[in-house]
Parts: sequence; structure tokens; C-alpha cells
Amino acid sequence: MKIGILGAGQLGRMLALAGYPLDLDFVFLDPAVEACAAPLGEHLHAEYTDDTTLAKFCAACDLATYEFENVPAAVAEFVAARVPLYPPPQALSAGQDRLGEKRLFDRLNIPVPRYMPVAAREALDVAAKNVGLPAVLKTRRMGYDGKGQAVLRQDGDLDAAWQRLAGQPLILEAFVAFERELSCIAVRGRDGDMAFYPVVENVHRDGILRTSVPQHDDPLQALAQDYTRRVAEHLDYVGVIAFEFFVADGQLYANEIAPRVHNSGHWTIEGAEVSQFENHLRAIAGLPLGSTALRGHCVMFNLIGQPPDDNDMARVPGLHIHHYGKTPKPQRKVGHATLTAESAVQLVRRRALIEPLIR
Ligand code: AMP
Repeated sequence: MKIGILGAGQLGRMLALAGYPLDLDFVFLDPAVEACAAPLGEHLHAEYTDDTTLAKFCAACDLATYEFENVPAAVAEFVAARVPLYPPPQALSAGQDRLGEKRLFDRLNIPVPRYMPVAAREALDVAAKNVGLPAVLKTRRMGYDGKGQAVLRQDGDLDAAWQRLAGQPLILEAFVAFERELSCIAVRGRDGDMAFYPVVENVHRDGILRTSVPQHDDPLQALAQDYTRRVAEHLDYVGVIAFEFFVADGQLYANEIAPRVHNSGHWTIEGAEVSQFENHLRAIAGLPLGSTALRGHCVMFNLIGQPPDDNDMARVPGLHIHHYGKTPKPQRKVGHATLTAESAVQLVRRRALIEPLIR
């Protein structure tokens, strides 16, 4: 079976790496010349909106998926009209606009931080009064890794934030003084069967994910699963979905969903019975889902900018290195490393060996 993937970045690369043992082949469409999944399959090199290449892509695969959430709606419709596309196009559009996404959470009775759309400078004053400060002004579309965001701490910050972000639809969200950030990675099969990985505690710096630790028996596991199931069932979802939450006062507040395999699920390659990548492929190919159970204790570190020397990393027992074949640039994710251990105590000891090496 040949799987078409829109996008050929590191997520496409890890999907292909998980797919070869299942006898799956891959074709990628990505405008980037040095797309890092390209060595793992056929690479169609064109803009997503190039209908001729898009038609070639559809003709080359049995079913299609995507590895980034900003696939234009028209592209998703073009593909879905020719081959099965999973997750379904309505899942893409649900996550593309932060306002629509928050309204969906409201409709599904999932708590969200206070928010208001902002279409004009005066509306920002009104929103700041209603939502309250501190707050975060965000672009409704195309933001990722903290890009397109400005934190407003006092009234004097509004002008500068407006000048930086105006010109596109915006949303103001209350700043959540969270205790923790959690994500729930789940997978839903074509038959509606669902499986959930243990919730993951994530640490971000400068809006970029730094570490992810799957939790053992987290008190919020059942609630996170319940919220994720509501969204997945509502969207008639197929594949892996990630739901990011803030935890404040011991409660979950929805941040955002990603209709794809997720950075906070990379630990599943070594840390779970079946990885998020294999489970995504199983789901879209119509195979039974694999076990999401933990194999032990682990932590995932993103490698951002210039990674540590392999000679140093490879000395750390239990460390699994993943390079993405990308040229290092400041603030760019070029790989990740997952540290595994048999016990929580052993994990703490091993972390002390790797943490001084990682920025
Ligand atoms: P996002 O792209 O919306 O997921 O934001 C990236 C990161 O910025 C989040 O994971 C948080 O660490 C931080 N952040 C975003 N929105 C808020 C918020 N409303 N309150 C507090 N921190 C936030």
C-alpha cells in the first residue's frame, strides 16, 4: 500500500520510518528542496496549490494524510475528492482557526481560557477589559511554536502588540498561570475504536517545546481522555490527534488541538508498546490499533539549534538519538532524543547525565 503524505518534514520522516516494517511505501508532496523526509520515499517537489502535481500525488497513492495542519482547505478538498484523506478535511479546518477551535471547545463543554476575537485597534481595548490582563494576543491562523503571539501585561503593551500583529485576524486569550502543561495523544481507527497514550507533561521555553514526560497514573488522565474523545468523535476523526491543555487549579483548560502526530508524542517510539507514528498508519490503513501502554519511564528532549555531539550523547545509557537531517539554525528543531529508564529513580540519575549537554 502506498501512503501519500502532504509535507515531508520530520513528522513525515518518522511516519515513513514506522511504515516500512508494515510494508507501506510513501510519496511526499513538499515545496521545500531539502525536505527531510524526501530520502524515505518519492518526493514530488511543488507548491501544494499546484493542481498538476497534486493530481500526480493522488494518482501515486492509495490513501493520503498530512503532517502539518496548515494544509489549505482547497488542497484537502482536491485530495479528498480523489483518494481517502485521513484525518478528514473537517478536522483540518477545525484546528486552523484559533477562534473556531475555541468555539468548538465551548460547544463540546470543554473549558477554555477566556477569549475574544479582535478585528480592530479599539476592539483590542474592549477585549483587554473583558478578558483581563495579563493576556496573550495571537494570530488566529498560521501560528506555531509561539510565533504570531504577544503577551500583554499592562495597558501600555497594547499598542506595540497591535503594531506587530495587526493586518490579520487576531484573538485575545486570558494568560493562564498554569501549574503544568499536558497533552493527550490519542488515535482513532476507521471503525471508531480509540486508544489513548498516558498524558504527557510538556515544558516550553520561548514558545517552543523543550521536554515531554509521559505521566504514570496522572489524576487528570480520565478527564483528558474524555475531552479528547469528545473532539475526535465530533470530527469523525481517523488517525492520531493531539490535544494540548493547561492545568490550573487542578483543572484542564483547552489550549489547542493538532490533527496529526505531535512533537509531545515522539517519546512513544521507544517509550510505548506501539508508537504514535505506527498507530497513525494503522488507523488510516484500517488496521487494528496497537497498544498505547508505557514500556517504562522516559523523557523526550528536543534538540534545538546546534545539537550536542553524538559522541557525548551516545555515552548516556538509555538515550535514543533522532536527527532529522536538517541544517541547524537558532530556534530550529533539528532532532530529538528520548531517554528511557526502568524506574523513576533511574530516569532521574540518567537525566543528570544528559541535561548539561542540552540547551
Ligand atoms: P500555542 O502555540 O498557542 O500552543 O502557544 C505556545 C506556548 O505558549 C504554549 O504551550 C504555552 O506555553 C504558551 N501559551 C500560549 N497561550 C497561553 C496562554 N493563554 N496562557 C499562558 N501561556 C500560553
